[in-house]
Amino acid sequence: DANVRLSLRLIPYSDELWLLVARDVTKLMRLEHMRRDFVANVSHELRTPLTVVHGYLDLLDPADNPEWAPMLAEMQRQSQRMTQLVEDLLTLSRLEAQEGVVDDPVSMASMLATLRREAEALSQGRHLVLCEDLTVQTGLALDLRGSTKELHSAFSNLVSNAVRYTPAGGTITIRFAPEGAGAMLSVTDTGYGIPAAHLPRITERFYRVSTSRSRESGGTGLGLAIVKHVLQLHGARLSIRSEVGQGSTFACHFAADRVIPRDDPFDAPAE
Ligand code: ADP
Repeated sequence: DANVRLSLRLIPYSDELWLLVARDVTKLMRLEHMRRDFVANVSHELRTPLTVVHGYLDLLDPADNPEWAPMLAEMQRQSQRMTQLVEDLLTLSRLEAQEGVVDDPVSMASMLATLRREAEALSQGRHLVLCEDLTVQTGLALDLRGSTKELHSAFSNLVSNAVRYTPAGGTITIRFAPEGAGAMLSVTDTGYGIPAAHLPRITERFYRVSTSRSRESGGTGLGLAIVKHVLQLHGARLSIRSEVGQGSTFACHFAADRVIPRDDPFDAPAE
């Protein structure tokens, strides 16, 4: 039956014997599909009412009734948060349903320039933002292959986390560098850091180290899940190094088949 899905595991039994364990996961996969479709449908249905609420909130002028000003501001903040949550849920559902990824050249010069601009805009002068392209400095000038839009959403989630989880006065470093025959993009911060016990689950949806700090920071709890899925689709790996009170480095490692020489090696990121 072509619809049956089996999970196969080979387990050593003795010196000469191996056990082949086949598990029927058809039902499990069907449930997983239902969960995915359900989340996607609910998110999609929430979009329109949210747009309407958001639109009318924007029309209300706090000057008409100064007592309402703080309430209006809070309602606007919360409706924005909900819109972001719905958008992130939709992005995640799309990524989960996706089998492969487009194979376009991704200009890392403009990617790095964009990430730097985003970091500076989010930080609003509270952090020092550094951006280095070591592939140019080593004379190798590399680009990536894949989906510019999806890679951007992964990298920019890392950048936004770095800014949000680093107190004012800290440094955010975005670095692109050759790594073996491949390349890596890393975001380093000098922020709060993450206790080691949390690292294994940190990329799960809605997993948070400190709920209150994360809420305050304005995240949706889906950022790292999106990062993980985008990297998986690109055959890339995420590594995390973190020390409490010192800071964290999130690095995306790309294999050689995802890396191409840059067309114009003098196309360095804009200062
Ligand atoms: P959120 O929207 O809550 O930031 P993420 O999936 O992006 O969701 O991150 C999950 C959790 O991982 C965060 O709530 C935070 O506790 C922790 N985290 C992520 N990035 C960092 C970082 N650079 N420094 C410290 N903690 C981080």
